[in-house]
Amino acid sequence: MITNAETIRPGTVAVVGIPFDANSSFMRGSAQAPVHIRDVIKSGVSNMCSESGIDLASRADFIDLGDMSINNESDAIETIETTTSELLQRDIRLISLGGDHAMTYPIIKSYQKKWGQLEIVHLDAHPDLYDSYDGNRLSHACPFARIMEEKLASHLVQIGIRTLNPHQEQQAERFGVEIITVPQLENAARIELVGPLYLSIDLDVLDPAFAPGVAHREPGGLTTRQVIELIQQLKAPIAGADIVEFNPARDPSEMTAMVAFKLLKEVAARMLERPLDFS
Ligand code: MN
Ligand code: MN
Repeated sequence: MITNAETIRPGTVAVVGIPFDANSSFMRGSAQAPVHIRDVIKSGVSNMCSESGIDLASRADFIDLGDMSINNESDAIETIETTTSELLQRDIRLISLGGDHAMTYPIIKSYQKKWGQLEIVHLDAHPDLYDSYDGNRLSHACPFARIMEEKLASHLVQIGIRTLNPHQEQQAERFGVEIITVPQLENAARIELVGPLYLSIDLDVLDPAFAPGVAHREPGGLTTRQVIELIQQLKAPIAGADIVEFNPARDPSEMTAMVAFKLLKEVAARMLERPLDFS
């Protein structure tokens, strides 16, 4: 990873890969995601322009820091937290590319130290609110339970949910999580958020027809267009984001890699369009 961040200007949007998937419950493989997403970016298949016309290729305030080095599974979660904190001290805004969704917990811990409690918008088929999953409290099925019980966020809105079970419904109630299921999707346009926001995108929020390259394919999901519109609708400034759970081993024709690339462009553009005050 590029650690010499001395010359980076405040507010820069920086991509960082987190190639770690050991907290996946069903199938590993998302650790390979950052390299595959970069491959499609570098292939020249599409340009670096957002739909709003921001050309990321020509922006000095959009950079790629490469991947975090994670050498040890047992302390990976701490490494992600420490490294994220070091980067946030540079007054940059991170877009972290997973890896599995477990990484959002240590990332939000770092964000809370820098920004206080953020509002979180979380797009996912799953609420990821299990108290524990297969005996693992750091499982990718649990990050938002950890975030909410440690009061790391002021508000959590989950969009695209379609697997809520009684335990997670109870957890959502306990933590005051606002859940917008797929049939309620039109309510997403009415959410009032002031920011700064953290945006967490689990690619399985999309229907598997659009993004098959995920471990947990859950039918009945969003179209690519709907996810793009949700991103473009966000009015509040975004302090950080992640795009997680892309599994290249499950991705015929690299179509999910293209979706990840597209969403990365839209998220980065949205962040650049809404500056944050770092003074
Ligand atoms: Mn999910
Ligand atoms: Mn998830």
